[in-house]
Amino acid sequence: MYWSRFYIPTLKEAPADAEVISHNLMIRAGMIRKLTAGVYNYLPLGLRSINKAAEIVRQEMNRAGAVEMSMPMVQPGDLWLESGRWQHYGKELLRFKDRHERDYCLGPTHEEVITGLIRGELRSYRQLPVNLYQIQTKFRDEIRPRFGLMRGREFIMKDAYSFDKDDEGADKSYWNMFHAYDRVFSRMGLRFKAVSADSGSIGGSFSHEFMVLAATGEDSIAACRTCDFAANIERAPVKYQGKPAAGGKDAPLAPPAPIEEVRTPGTHSVAEVAAFLNVRAQDLVKTILFVVDGQSVAVLVRGDREVNDIKLKNYLKAQEVEFMEPEMVKAVTGAEVGYAGPVGLKVDKLLADPEVLERDAWVTGANKTDHHLKNVNIPRDVKNVDVQDLRNIDEGDVCPQCGGAIDLPRGIEVGHVFKLGTKYSEAMNAKFLDADGQEKFFIMGCYGIGVTRVVAASIEQNHDDKGIIFSPPIAPFEVLIFNLDPKNADVNAEAGRLHDFIESLGLDVLVDDRDERPGVKFNDGDLVGMPMQLIVSRKGLEKRIVEAKDRRNGERAELPLDDFADAFVQWKAKVYAGWNI
Ligand code: ATP
Ligand code: MG
Repeated sequence: MYWSRFYIPTLKEAPADAEVISHNLMIRAGMIRKLTAGVYNYLPLGLRSINKAAEIVRQEMNRAGAVEMSMPMVQPGDLWLESGRWQHYGKELLRFKDRHERDYCLGPTHEEVITGLIRGELRSYRQLPVNLYQIQTKFRDEIRPRFGLMRGREFIMKDAYSFDKDDEGADKSYWNMFHAYDRVFSRMGLRFKAVSADSGSIGGSFSHEFMVLAATGEDSIAACRTCDFAANIERAPVKYQGKPAAGGKDAPLAPPAPIEEVRTPGTHSVAEVAAFLNVRAQDLVKTILFVVDGQSVAVLVRGDREVNDIKLKNYLKAQEVEFMEPEMVKAVTGAEVGYAGPVGLKVDKLLADPEVLERDAWVTGANKTDHHLKNVNIPRDVKNVDVQDLRNIDEGDVCPQCGGAIDLPRGIEVGHVFKLGTKYSEAMNAKFLDADGQEKFFIMGCYGIGVTRVVAASIEQNHDDKGIIFSPPIAPFEVLIFNLDPKNADVNAEAGRLHDFIESLGLDVLVDDRDERPGVKFNDGDLVGMPMQLIVSRKGLEKRIVEAKDRRNGERAELPLDDFADAFVQWKAKVYAGWNI
C-alpha cells in the first residue's frame, strides 16, 4: 500500500476534548474521527488495527471451539422484560419505539437474545455444550462517554455465550475461555493481568477481568510482587497482621488511658483533625455513616483507609448502599458532619474493620460539634461491634495468598469472563432435557472482549512523546518504508521492490511516497507508530544499504541491499523478540 493513495489525515494538534493519550494519538494519527459524543468513524488506519485485533480474537475463539454467529443490534423490549433487565439496566440501555409504539433497545450486550434463541432450539443434553460468539457493534448510552475508543457509546465487542448441562461442564467452558483470552492478549504483545473480579450478588458465579497494564488505567488492581495473586481492588481481601509489637512504629499512641474529650474547632476532614491534634491520619479511626436498605449503618476504619462499599454490600447481602445524607447524619450523631464517632453512637448496625482492634488508643469523633475524643479503645468503649474486612486493600498490605508485598498497578479492562450459572436461563425459562429425563436450566457463561477498547489500551500502554508504538500483531501495517526521494527513479524502484518483497513475506507494508520533506515523513511515521521502519534514500543506495529503525526502542540497523532477504528476516526476528512474540 502507498501512503499517497491511502487516507491518513494526520494532525499536529489534538482536539481539546482528547483527555487521554490514546484518544489524542488516535485522532492525530488519523485513525478515528468523532461523529458525536462517544461515537466514532473508524478511518482506514484505525479500521485496519481494529480488524487485526478482531481477527486474533476470532482465531482464538475458533481454536477454543466457539462458533461464530451474528445477532441483531436492535432488540425487542419484551425479551428484556422477561429477564427483568428492562427495569434494572438503567439509562445505559438506549430505548426507543417503532412506528407501532412497540418497545425496542439497542443491544448493550446479548444475553437476552442468545437465551431467547437457544431455548427454542436446543432441547437435549446431547447437543451440549455449545459456545456461540459474535464480533459486533454494541451501544451503551454511557453517562460520560470519553477517552475516545476507551469508553465509547458505540463500540465493537466480541461476546461469547456458553451453554452447559451441569456445573462441571460450565466450569470447563469457563476455563477454556479464560485460557483463550490469555492467548489472545499474549498474541497481541500486550502486558496484561487476569484479575479475579467482583461478581456481585449472583450466587455460585465467578469472574475474571483481563486488564492491560497502563499507568493511565481507570481500574486499580491489587497484585502481589511475589506470587500470581491479582484481584480487582473491589474484591481483594485484606490480610490482617494483628497487633504491632510494643515500641514499634505503629505501637499504641499511649497505654489504654481514660477517654479525653478535646476541642477541635472547624476541623472536618481526617487531614484537618490530624494536623490540629498533631497526629497522623493512621492514628484516627473514622466513622463512616451509610444507609443500607433503609437501615443506618456505621463503619469504623483507620483514618487513612477507604471503606469498600462492595465488601459492605456483599457482607450485608444488601441491595442498596448509600452514604448517609448530611441531615440524617446530624440527626443520628447530634453534631455537624465531620464529628461522628463510635462512642455512644446509636445506629442500627455498627461494623468495624479488624485494623481498628490492632491498637489500644485512637482519636475518634465525639458526636459533638467541634470535638473529638482521644484514647478511645474500641473493645473497651464501644459495644456490639461486628468486626469484618470492609476496607480497600492498600499499598504495603500483605498478599492474602503468600504474604508478599501488594502493589497497586493500574489497568484497563479489555476482557471479562463470567460464569452466569442459571441467572438468565431461569428468568427466561430456558431448559433442556437431561439424560435422566428431567428438564433442567442451562448453566451459562458469558465472555466479552472490547475489540475497539483493546486497540486504545495498547496505545495507552505503548507510546512515547513522538506518537504511537504499535505491537506488530495489531499494527495497521507492520512495516513503514520511507521513500525519501520519490522523484528519483532508482529510489522509487528500490522502495517498490522492498514493498513487494516484504508483502511476499505475508507482512502488511506501507510506503510513504508523498512528495514531502524527510522531517515531515519521519514525524508522521513515528506518530502512526508502525513497529518497523525502513528508510530508502539516494545516499543509502550509494552505500547499498537500507536503514532500519525499531519504533519500540529507536534502535537503528543497516540492512545490506545485496543480502536484504536474510538481513531483514533476522532484524524482524529481533524486533518481534522485543515484544515477546
Ligand atoms: P466497564 O466496567 O469498563 O464499564 P463493563 O464491565 O461494563 O466495562 P462488560 O459488560 O464486561 O463491560 O463488557 C465486556 C467488555 O466490553 C469490557 O471488558 C470492555 O473491554 C468492553 N467495553 C465495555 N464498555 C465499553 C465502552 N463503553 N467502550 C468500549 N469498550 C467497552
Ligand atoms: Mg466488566
